[in-house]
Amino acid sequence: MDAPARVALITGASRGIGKAIATRLAAQGRHVVLVARSEGPLNDLKHLIEQAGGKATARACDIADPKAFAALVDDVATTLGRLDILVNNAGITKDGLLLRMSDEDWNTVLQTNLTSAFVAVRAAARAMMKNRFGRIVNIGSTSGLVGNAGQANYAAAKSALVGFSKTVARELGSKGVTCNVVAPGYVETDMTAVLPDDIKSKIQDMIAVRRLGTPDDIAAAVAYVTSDEAGYLTGQVLTVDGGMTMA
Ligand code: NAP
Repeated sequence: MDAPARVALITGASRGIGKAIATRLAAQGRHVVLVARSEGPLNDLKHLIEQAGGKATARACDIADPKAFAALVDDVATTLGRLDILVNNAGITKDGLLLRMSDEDWNTVLQTNLTSAFVAVRAAARAMMKNRFGRIVNIGSTSGLVGNAGQANYAAAKSALVGFSKTVARELGSKGVTCNVVAPGYVETDMTAVLPDDIKSKIQDMIAVRRLGTPDDIAAAVAYVTSDEAGYLTGQVLTVDGGMTMA
């Protein structure tokens, strides 16, 4: 009998990088659980994956609501009987220079980009430890590694994900659970669509491979880090930025 499909929960799966990750993991035979606030795009992706012969479940949720998000993670592990892979990808920006940044913009970005990862990992850890297998990936950013003017809130959250992930890696490693950060540079999604063309062209000049990344570039890295064979890779930051920072 075939082994049951590994269950992978991906947040921010309605578009951009999360959608590419979900599509890729589904093509690898994972049962993907698609999470974002907007139900329509999640259901569209679920149908696409099923048409291609994959398995998907769509669950609308605001990950910035800790009670609702923790309950969702618990419910997925119970209903599907396992939770093998967790990709904390959903994220937002609320950019502004430090002197003008409001408490609200600071708190909203920290809650969505950092606290949600803590909430999800805490809720998922029990099921992963029970099965003695888990792959956790937190999507960081080069902003969290080298800083970025106008992104004090975002850079702080993404940087904190690194310390958080290394600690989770140390706490859960002996139980077969790995935890890593995949840190993209600039990737062509709705998040970067707001950048003016002249800024994009300046950014491109700083990138060794001379192009912005695609969501698939990031999905390929996540596919490896979450694979069964990546069990000896933990507590690491995999920077996927076309050679922009080489930190
Ligand atoms: P995006 O195109 O703006 O998509 C963001 C995703 O997160 C959407 O699916 C959105 O869905 C979901 N989301 C946002 N807030 C949410 C909430 N409160 N609850 C549930 N879902 C929520 O962003 P992206 O460019 O793909 O970025 C994905 C990740 O990569 C983020 O963590 C981002 O910080 C990181 N990253 C991106 C870049 C880049 O250049 N694009 C670079 C470095 C790092 P709904 O709106 O439907 O909720």
